[in-house]
Amino acid sequence: MTTKSAPTLVEKIAEKLHLIPNLHQDDESELPPMTEPGKLSDYPPPDQWDDWTEYEAKKWPLREKKNYMIVPTSCFNCESGCGLLSYVDKETMAVRKFEGNPYHPGSRGRNCAKGPASINQITDPDRILYPLKRTGKRGEGKWERVSWESVLDDISGRIRKAILEKRNNEISYHVGRPGHEGYTNRVLQAWGVDGHNSHTNICSSGARFGYAIWHGYDRPSPDHANAKFILLISAHLESGHYFNPHAQRIIEGMMKGAKMAVMDPRLSNTASMADYWMPTYPGSEAAILLAMAKVIIDEGSYNEPFLKNWVNWQDYLKKEHPKLEVTFENFIGALKEAYQEYTPEFAAKEAEVEADMIVEIARKIGEAGTKFAAHNWRSAGSGNLGGWAVARCLHFLNVLTGSVGTVGGTSPSGWHKFHPTMFDKPPAQKFWNELHLPNEYPLSHFEMSFLLPHFLKEGRGKMDVYFTRVFNPVWTYPDGFSWIEALSDESMIGMHIAMTPTWNQTAYYADYVLPMGHAGERHDLVSYETHSGMWMAFRQPVLREARRRMGNPVEFTYEANPGEVWEEDEFWQELSWRIDPDGSMGIKEHFISPYRPGEKIKIDEYYQYIFEHTPNLPEKAAEEGLSALDYMRKYGAFEIEKTSYSKHRNGLSEEEMAEATVDEETGSIIKDGKPIGVMDEGEACTGFPTPSRKQEFYSQTMVDWGWPEYKIPTYIKSHVHENEMDREQGHFPLIPTFRLPTLIHSRSGNAKWLAEISNRNPLWMHTSDAEKLGLETHDLVRVNTDIGYFIVKLWVTEGMKPGVVVCSHHLGSWRRPQDTGNRWASNSVSIESPEKGKWKMNVLEGVQPFKSDDPDSSRIFWNDGGVHQNITFPVHPDPVSGMHCWHQKVRLEKAHPDDKYGDVFVDTNKSFEIYREWLKLARPAPGPNGLRRPLWMGRPLRPAEELFYLDQKKEND
Ligand code: SF4
Repeated sequence: MTTKSAPTLVEKIAEKLHLIPNLHQDDESELPPMTEPGKLSDYPPPDQWDDWTEYEAKKWPLREKKNYMIVPTSCFNCESGCGLLSYVDKETMAVRKFEGNPYHPGSRGRNCAKGPASINQITDPDRILYPLKRTGKRGEGKWERVSWESVLDDISGRIRKAILEKRNNEISYHVGRPGHEGYTNRVLQAWGVDGHNSHTNICSSGARFGYAIWHGYDRPSPDHANAKFILLISAHLESGHYFNPHAQRIIEGMMKGAKMAVMDPRLSNTASMADYWMPTYPGSEAAILLAMAKVIIDEGSYNEPFLKNWVNWQDYLKKEHPKLEVTFENFIGALKEAYQEYTPEFAAKEAEVEADMIVEIARKIGEAGTKFAAHNWRSAGSGNLGGWAVARCLHFLNVLTGSVGTVGGTSPSGWHKFHPTMFDKPPAQKFWNELHLPNEYPLSHFEMSFLLPHFLKEGRGKMDVYFTRVFNPVWTYPDGFSWIEALSDESMIGMHIAMTPTWNQTAYYADYVLPMGHAGERHDLVSYETHSGMWMAFRQPVLREARRRMGNPVEFTYEANPGEVWEEDEFWQELSWRIDPDGSMGIKEHFISPYRPGEKIKIDEYYQYIFEHTPNLPEKAAEEGLSALDYMRKYGAFEIEKTSYSKHRNGLSEEEMAEATVDEETGSIIKDGKPIGVMDEGEACTGFPTPSRKQEFYSQTMVDWGWPEYKIPTYIKSHVHENEMDREQGHFPLIPTFRLPTLIHSRSGNAKWLAEISNRNPLWMHTSDAEKLGLETHDLVRVNTDIGYFIVKLWVTEGMKPGVVVCSHHLGSWRRPQDTGNRWASNSVSIESPEKGKWKMNVLEGVQPFKSDDPDSSRIFWNDGGVHQNITFPVHPDPVSGMHCWHQKVRLEKAHPDDKYGDVFVDTNKSFEIYREWLKLARPAPGPNGLRRPLWMGRPLRPAEELFYLDQKKEND
């Protein structure tokens, strides 16, 4: 964009007197505008990405030119994996800024605030630049810089010893922000350990289970852009999974006439954009959804062909109504009977919303038919006992309307997520780690990771080598003081290695802190179900790539990154090589180059192989005279399928159909006694990955595993149901799960722009409740949980459901005086434990300006770092899905005279008791045939099939 305009008189004089630079001299080499004046600016054309010139922003109004190399990569600040273009200054070889990548099919050149803020994370003066080893006691905060060589030698030796002594279950990799599309899982299987542990059971496994029990896939992928009606049980327009890609498409759909309804007790920005806002009582959502289902069933607006062919209704009639003839009409009759109690009035009472609105929305959903898009992520699914039933009941509406996998409907996630082909696949591990998946929770959708400290305290086992990766349970998990107790005890955790791009409260209790790259500092593959197509993006270390393009390549990524910041991919590679230097353990063979026999694979070769085996990518690259790898290096993303609908109708091959028979009554295709597909309109289709290959309205799995009351979609009353509240005592349900669109758990701690935008997390309360309690905005409130309390400020608002309070979980980051890091966003605190299990945290001072190379650090004007609420929550494991049920029944009172803002108190003895109480709700394995988990249910890192049987335990020991 040109800056020239006719000089004013004052400018002319000032320029002549040299008071200001001469901005109006003729400049032959003036930069051309990217777009015509008056139009929105465009993206630099890719043929100029190797040498792109812009004016230096910091020199404005002088027009000093800067030459950049533009290198694409992917954002790492949430799970959407949006595309970024990094601008590498060719003179200084530093990344100057990140903008959107228009060639990324998910984000299409757009980002939220967190994308461009990646530059803050890279230039943060507090970032970890070198590998560190503790020198004092664990948690004491004393560190020394060490070399990557010594780190690799020490850790590989310890792992080698554990594996040789058959202590494979003592090696664990616990991941917070995932990625890698199977990279680390491949490494763990090469080591032969059942070592994958995830954060998913404090995140999304409740909703995932609700979907999986229907059709095997565990997430929804709504086609918002083509929908006629959108129902969100979340704040998806502004936050949640894939929210920038989703937000674009929700708005597109609404611009084309779609209507939107939102269930949320909080008037979120999403709810404020909706046509219908239902401020539901927390946990009541499934009751509303079943009432909507009842309207659709009673009024006959269901999709009969889809129900007839694709739902296992015959199983339901045979098992539950054996006296009825197996006809579709009888099924509809039985459905009406099964849901007769879920009247709109009943749901309205449970949820405290208008019955008329429930009916109106149900009719709109029925009218939308196959164009009904819906999403439920954390929110209700992750907050409530039985939260998984919310997702199950939501999907019931998709099933009733036949909007499963349709244009404008809701597809299974697995149809839109790409799984790469790797150069080598190690065999499944022959171990089952009960510290990850204990027998009490046979259906748990992911690992019971948030119970680990309690399992260790109970003596169920120990961790000898425990990796945490972009993972901060002390701060993000419930019951963080129990984590501190476990992490501080070397008899429970022998060696803790924190792999992290940012200082965090869990890393304070590590033996090694290993700096790993942010977006643009690492290799990675990204593919998510952001819309109705399928894409893959390449997260690449941009300085390394810039150096390669300029003829100055490096061997390892840490040679190009700031300091010695490395990346997981190369770290695992080098570590694995050292665990088995002579190949005698059978590990080394999984790290041999597919292109150079016998030689260690290089990182470029790893991705070269995947890209060469990605459908249509080599051909597309060849059109530009590029290799598949160079195409991905150049554009950073590739669209594999533009649209992906109705994949359950993919055909079975002749080979698959050989010796198969068709059950005339159900249309199921049977082979070797098991359904392998479904006949639909005369075609043999693969169906869904469930035991019946259909949508399972009736779940034999739930019956077989001890939950017959949940055999069909059902409403489960939450642990924070109104019946549990004693309002006279000051009880409220607290929703601690809502997400600020500008923050990213621990990693916003070193993003100054984000900390500037969002730096407090008050307790939201409706005006009427505040009046009753005699409270006003800014008053200090003591929020009592079952194990302690926190002191927070109040925000009184009309944008909140009466009788419910909420508090965002992103704030309240802290550091002790001996800790470094995240000074943009963390309070300085003291932590004391006056007696065993009793923990006090007091804020010493809030966020303060500080001196550093970044002048902005002395300009910090905010003081509030928020309050750490999660640490005051006990664990609440859902006995079916294994999800931690985040919502809390709290008792509110005015702060006591000695209470100060941000104070926290916790009793971990009580948290252990509450863990034991919830454990009693579980219905343990074995299930049928001595199984510890249904064979058809997946695991993120699936062990060999024989390990699913409990009698294999001895070999495992
Ligand atoms: S939505 Fe997520 S991935 Fe996309 S720019 Fe924002 S933080 Fe990055």
